[in-house]
Amino acid sequence: MVAKHSVMVGGSVSTAKQVAAATLRLPSLPSPRDLVRLYKVKAVKHLSQNFLMDHKLNSKLVRSSGRVRNCHVCEVGPGPGGITRSILEQGAARLTVIEKDPRFLPILDQLKDASFGKLDIELGDVLTFNMEKIFSSDLTQPWEGNLPKIHLIGNLPFNVATPLIIRWLKDISLKRNAWVNGRVRMTLTFQLEVVQRMVALPGHSQRCRLSVMCQNWCDVTHKFTIPGRAFVPKPEVDVGIAHFVPRVEPLIPLDFSLVEKVVRSIFSFRQKYSKKGAGMLFPEARRDELVNMMFTVADVDPALRPFQISMSEFNRLCHSYAAILEQHPSLAKFNAREGNV
Ligand code: SAM
Repeated sequence: MVAKHSVMVGGSVSTAKQVAAATLRLPSLPSPRDLVRLYKVKAVKHLSQNFLMDHKLNSKLVRSSGRVRNCHVCEVGPGPGGITRSILEQGAARLTVIEKDPRFLPILDQLKDASFGKLDIELGDVLTFNMEKIFSSDLTQPWEGNLPKIHLIGNLPFNVATPLIIRWLKDISLKRNAWVNGRVRMTLTFQLEVVQRMVALPGHSQRCRLSVMCQNWCDVTHKFTIPGRAFVPKPEVDVGIAHFVPRVEPLIPLDFSLVEKVVRSIFSFRQKYSKKGAGMLFPEARRDELVNMMFTVADVDPALRPFQISMSEFNRLCHSYAAILEQHPSLAKFNAREGNV
């Protein structure tokens, strides 16, 4: 009889201490695929539950985050725990998972029992979850210093992935939530075309608001692609793995909402001259005059298409818009869709 929380490592029974130092080999649990069958957990469409059951791909995804060994990892949306296992196997010191669907609790509890107390399960919604309290302050690094030994990893539900990354970029800009601990890295899945937009450079056909917002606060890379057929059930699209490292200084060092408003307005007419979208920032009566001032002060050609504008040009445009707001504070509240001032 093996005592609770002992595991088989290299064929022999080891103490918790020995195992903590080694790569964790989990005891032979049923596979995530068998557990899903056993607990009759059917994928729910509105939660975008597409499970990654391929152990090699789960391990590759975790490896693509950088070293998780001796780190505290937070995994969002663990579902039946395929990625969760790989994180534990690759030697994370601690793993916190945030799962919204309580049907996965019995499966995750099995993993918790096998994890030497390394796994904590939080039932909750990642969109509102404050991660500040889960990481020990011992792990905190100065913002300008080394990256903290903390990772956020997840095969996110497609329908929450984009709003979540926008929310997290705002949190990065304010150094709150997980980012009170420093420049915490993220490795997340999205629909492939969303990742392609995130990394698209100026002039690229996929360049959009999301490209500018992601690249402003993070160094973003597309790590690799997983074909849709690797998931159960198979989504219509292929899946991209994106890795984000927060920048020490954003390329546009201004308030998140201001940057978001300028970039959103300019991209509101993608195929037109940028000055048309920028006009959405100002009431009609003064539109031409203020748009002209904004582009002249920023020294940016108003006839560029939005996708051609570089980060440094966006920086200058945002600064010149901020300068206009200093002179006319009431314009900050202007919303072209509502037409108010
Ligand atoms: N990580 C698992 C895998 O790769 O097989 C499951 C991935 S599945 C695409 C997304 C998971 O996120 C599901 O388990 C779902 O219940 C969970 N989820 C959906 N919305 C969530 C939310 N707002 N907060 C936390 N988890 C959520």
